[in-house]
Amino acid sequence: MKSSNNYLLPACSANPVREIPTDLLIGEQWRAGAEGRRIDVINPSTGELLTSVADATIKDGIQAIDAAAQAATGWAATPPRKRAELLRTCFERMVAHSEWLAQLISLENGKALADAKSEVLYAAEFFRWYAEEAVRLEGEVSVSPSGANRIVVMYQPIGIALLITPWNFPAAMATRKIAPALAAGCTCILKPAEETPLTAYAVAQIMLEAGIPPGVVNVITTSDPAAVVKAMLHEGRIRKLSFTGSTEVGRLLLREAADTVVNSSMELGGNAPFLVFEDANIEEAIAGAMIAKMRNGGEACTAANRFYIQRGVYEQFTKQLVARMGAVKLGEGCSPETGCGALINRAAVEKIELLVADAVKRGARVLLGGSAPTRPGFFYPPTVLADVPAGAEILKQEIFGPVAALVPFDSIDEAVQLANDTEYGLVSYIYTGDLKTGLRISERLESGMIALNRGLVSDAAAPFGGVKQSGLGREGSHHGIREFTEAKYIAVEW
Ligand code: NAD
Repeated sequence: MKSSNNYLLPACSANPVREIPTDLLIGEQWRAGAEGRRIDVINPSTGELLTSVADATIKDGIQAIDAAAQAATGWAATPPRKRAELLRTCFERMVAHSEWLAQLISLENGKALADAKSEVLYAAEFFRWYAEEAVRLEGEVSVSPSGANRIVVMYQPIGIALLITPWNFPAAMATRKIAPALAAGCTCILKPAEETPLTAYAVAQIMLEAGIPPGVVNVITTSDPAAVVKAMLHEGRIRKLSFTGSTEVGRLLLREAADTVVNSSMELGGNAPFLVFEDANIEEAIAGAMIAKMRNGGEACTAANRFYIQRGVYEQFTKQLVARMGAVKLGEGCSPETGCGALINRAAVEKIELLVADAVKRGARVLLGGSAPTRPGFFYPPTVLADVPAGAEILKQEIFGPVAALVPFDSIDEAVQLANDTEYGLVSYIYTGDLKTGLRISERLESGMIALNRGLVSDAAAPFGGVKQSGLGREGSHHGIREFTEAKYIAVEW
């Protein structure tokens, strides 16, 4: 069960050189794609080639379904306690391997090592959480209103799951799906983003070492996700599609899933408002803003996109944010002093350049940063734009980079109206000294998650997900495992 095509990850800290598979994982085999093609993996910090991975065809995709189907009955019949113990071992192994995993993420994604380390621990937490949930998947029994029968409801594994993940959290977005799928008794096929496939293969390798049986987790990378995923969905055996990525691709996949009526969960884009009221503790609001904006270099669906600051504290907040963001060091992800790493690719830099230029043309003031450095790799510096006018594209689109767009407001009603003025509804941030105000505003904000006097919502124990065009369904917590089950009702004559 050894891959012949390994990427040699350089030694780091106390870890020796690690061999990372670069072939498809189908059943118990690591193997090349049917046509032998490869996909280049680029280091965003240098723009140079890191290695290449196998490129799956439609035939490989169908064979991955065969492998998942073969393992399905055995895995569903594995006692929950046994599944839980295996997931717990995955957690322990992932934590034990966190140093080199973080280095690998930083190399292929470009993010700062500190961000990569937090991601690995967050990712591992899904294995621990769902090890604990696997043995708590309870059903229901009730008496029918007529008294003539009993209603028994059991939650069964939904079937083979296709898991599609983005490049921005290559470990955490994978485990957030794999762990609940396996806990529920489903087998799966993971299709990671082309930009960051190595982390997915490394996580799968760790899972096999932990004792997860072959075929329970399969991993395929492809340069043609549209064709391969479409064929896999239309083939008929996939019963669950769990997607994290852009709203645009999510819409497309919902249409594809409709043909075979595949149950679908969608974790899509965001455009988070960050509201600061005059009664807030400004030091704490700045600390929260730094996390909400700068975590992962701004490449997070939860990243604060639009900062709405009440006029009385607007200047103070702006000044302090400029000072804190200005102190963040831009650089190669793997160097220890880097606070903000590279963006994923050239297109990401160009998108931000266009958004900043549009805002400035409409009258926004650049208080920090504002132009990409001339150096190898894909970098954009921490940037603060003040007085961004309504209508600017940067208030409508996901920035996905270290740029903060600031707008003053006067009243609570105005803040709520501005915050809700978006097609997205993933997360909103509120800073206020009055808990009642915070809760009242929370009720009025159209988002699946609210961070109240906090800069972070991500937590394996909480239901993560959006409303409006930010998605369907929830991941994490006991809600996450239900996404991989089907309720079966048995009417029992009494
Ligand atoms: P993307 O939509 O371009 O790609 C995501 C995944 O979909 C990748 O694996 C890609 O290969 C695949 N894909 C692309 N086109 C496809 C197609 N036609 N058919 C099937 N699969 C296809 O997104 P991205 O650029 O990788 O990631 C960034 C986006 O992800 C942002 O919008 C971000 O907000 C979102 N995101 C959301 C969450 C969340 O939990 N809501 C978390 C992380 C990222």
